[in-house]
Amino acid sequence: MGPGSYEAKVPDAATDLAWRKAATETRAILKKGSEAWSQHGCPGTAECCQLAITKRAPWLWPSEWKVIEDRLKRDKRPLPPAREDGACPFLDAAGKRCTIYEDRPLGCRTYFCHRITGPSRQPAEQTNALLERLASANVAVDDQAAPKSLEAWVSSARRPATCPAEP
Ligand code: SF4
Repeated sequence: MGPGSYEAKVPDAATDLAWRKAATETRAILKKGSEAWSQHGCPGTAECCQLAITKRAPWLWPSEWKVIEDRLKRDKRPLPPAREDGACPFLDAAGKRCTIYEDRPLGCRTYFCHRITGPSRQPAEQTNALLERLASANVAVDDQAAPKSLEAWVSSARRPATCPAEP
């Protein structure tokens, strides 16, 4: 089974359970990520969410995308439409706030832009350890699992699961 296949077809019960466990582990990893970067901050301009401009979209493992999908399902929210400005579709209409903030991926928690504030020493070791833990959680379910860009996840989620029959 390839990465993200759980969204394209109904998984069997064992696979579904395995991805649920990976999502639970991922939530713990994301929490640790926020804790690791808790001494750092930024002015909160959301410039980093202007993905068409920054060309630095976060890359998500399947379990990170599952965490977002679970959040949307829980809130009974549809996948947001593409934004005309090319920003992340999870950015709010005003372009200031992440609408999935508590469930945002690890990459969005790491203050990767020049506006970072806080101690000069950044938690690189902790972040790398969390990335390895994230990889393990995914590869344990699917040895072919790999991260892909947020745009790629959104675009594959928008694609219908089955093609309509030809006339
Ligand atoms: S998921 Fe949230 S924090 Fe990450 S790029 Fe999108 S709007 Fe910004």
